[in-house]
Amino acid sequence: MTEPTHEKSHGGALGTRLNWLRAAVLGANDGIVSTAGLVVGVAGATDSRSTLLTAGLAGLLAGAMSMAAAQYVSVSTQRDSERAALALERRELRERPEAELRELTGMLQQRGLSRAVAEEAAKQLTARDALRAHAHMELGIDPYELTDPWHAAWASFLSFTAGALLPLLAIVLPPAGWRLGVTVLSVLAALALTGWSSARLGAARPGRAVVRNVCGGALAMAVTHAAGTLLGEVGV
Ligand SMILES: [Zn+2]
Repeated sequence: MTEPTHEKSHGGALGTRLNWLRAAVLGANDGIVSTAGLVVGVAGATDSRSTLLTAGLAGLLAGAMSMAAAQYVSVSTQRDSERAALALERRELRERPEAELRELTGMLQQRGLSRAVAEEAAKQLTARDALRAHAHMELGIDPYELTDPWHAAWASFLSFTAGALLPLLAIVLPPAGWRLGVTVLSVLAALALTGWSSARLGAARPGRAVVRNVCGGALAMAVTHAAGTLLGEVGV
């Protein structure tokens, strides 16, 4: 997926919000695919609604918690390294302010400012908030708004759960004869939507993303359903 660089260099609230939104869409997508694979597989082996509900709910909870834990760990690690980089930047600003001013001037020139303008801009940015200017230009982060690992974990948990509820309800609510059809169709439609949204949010063209996403989900359901049916017939 292509990271739109203009978002990063603007570094503003819009870029952050788009990243969160895209993470939410991807979390929902995971919830849909893994839970759909699970319940469609179990439906190959049994008609029991309570078994389907139990398996689906267990899959939902396990998946949501594993996503949340992974997100917590990854964002914590990222925040640790951002904090370390900020501490280094702070020390450099304290110990060799002239070199840091030259560095900032150089970065502004690289972005297209003339030498004179870059020098003046670097002076003003340094006077206002040197750390913020350096963090922004060198690290691409806002030193006062580092991502909270708990927020990230909750966001993953909720988005995975939202996605997982669709196949869970689709397999449990309809009468036995309709179950599979309703689940497969609603899952493929939902995957078309999440594929399209994540491509749009990532500024990529949606056509291929939709096809890939729908095919991936269809494959997952086909494989688990075949496995479930086989196990059901063998009578394990
Ligand atoms: Zn610096």
